[in-house]
Amino acid sequence: MGTHKTPKLAYGTQGSVVVETCQVCDAADFQSVIFLGYLPPVNTMPAVGSRPAEQPAYPAEMLRCRRCQLVQIGLIVDPCILFPPTYPYTSGTTKILRDNFAELYKEVSTLYPITPEDLVVDIGSNDGTLLSNFHAGKHRVQGIEPTNAGQLANDRGITTLTSFFNQAAVKKVVAEKGQAKIVTAANVFAHMENVHTIVSCIEELLQKDGLFISESHYLLSLVETLQYDTIYHEHLRYYSLTSLKYLLEEHGFEIIHAKRIPTHGGSIRVYAARKGQKPVQPSVAAILAQEAQDLTEEKLRSFHDRVTKTKLGLLALLNDIRTQGKRVVGIGAPSRASTLINYVGLDDGILDGVLEIKGSYKIGKYIPGTVIPVQEESRLYTDPPEYALLLSWHIAEELIPKFRASGYKGKFIIPLPTPRIVD
Ligand SMILES: [Zn+2]
Repeated sequence: MGTHKTPKLAYGTQGSVVVETCQVCDAADFQSVIFLGYLPPVNTMPAVGSRPAEQPAYPAEMLRCRRCQLVQIGLIVDPCILFPPTYPYTSGTTKILRDNFAELYKEVSTLYPITPEDLVVDIGSNDGTLLSNFHAGKHRVQGIEPTNAGQLANDRGITTLTSFFNQAAVKKVVAEKGQAKIVTAANVFAHMENVHTIVSCIEELLQKDGLFISESHYLLSLVETLQYDTIYHEHLRYYSLTSLKYLLEEHGFEIIHAKRIPTHGGSIRVYAARKGQKPVQPSVAAILAQEAQDLTEEKLRSFHDRVTKTKLGLLALLNDIRTQGKRVVGIGAPSRASTLINYVGLDDGILDGVLEIKGSYKIGKYIPGTVIPVQEESRLYTDPPEYALLLSWHIAEELIPKFRASGYKGKFIIPLPTPRIVD
């Protein structure tokens, strides 16, 4: 450690920084995996009726480092642009996430039991959903969360510091509560630039025999089910266990256990401890062996081909439907919908609108980069289109029965991994 160049940061530039060297190992030997074009920032959504004005667009290229295997985005955008002060809080606490965090607590209690005196710190703790499990288990907990969501956690007794995760936050927590036995980072560890500083802060926060547990969207799931739509500028790194191992070992950590979990269309939970502190479970070697087979340069080249085929397939399918004069709406406007719509080139002549659940702040705004309006979900029943394109297709199995039960009788289109119609 300490041998890394301090990278040029995008933070505070009101612009972006091209990734010339690997975010983890500084090498400049990249394979270009896929280039999805220039994407608008996913949270820039002008009001319906406003005239389109000038806005930035950022190249979305996915790179693989040939030295450390880290797959990463080729351009880092100033987080002040991606997360403006007006960045609306959206609770990510779906059932699948709540179940996952309950399961995490159970797994920790079984594999690495802790005492009530032990402190658990969650980075990017949002409304405290993850920590609520440890809180209910009578452990000491501390959240660190930059947005106002932390207030919701405080309201239910989960002490949360409103701050980005940085050295000042770590010093404050350690001074007040001591070092942590467990540090968790769920779906935030791939989002922060200057990853070596982040890991150094985790080292400082953690007791000698402590555990760092991260959950991140998993590269192998992304590749297997063609989730190119999770590529956007909030996601700086697309971790495999192989690349995480390289990163964490540079800081004296050792991965002791890992497993695939179902959140966000396929994630990986990784347990790390300081080298030699805990036995290494067989799960680690098993996953590394699978990655050595399935995440090669050739496999990633075929990923590009397979993604291109889904674009052509979806357009062909929509061409048939629109030629027959039938209507299509999109369902769900998560960030990933913006990548799919912009990459495939869907516009307001193809999609009548995109529907969001009542109360969503996105209603009455345009999908980024388009003039496709976001409308309330009730439209699906009051003015039903013949086809509904599922933009949260990774949870199609959960969504279809829900819309059927509410009375939608049209057909569904599932765009990925193989574009198809479901009656
Ligand atoms: Zn690298």
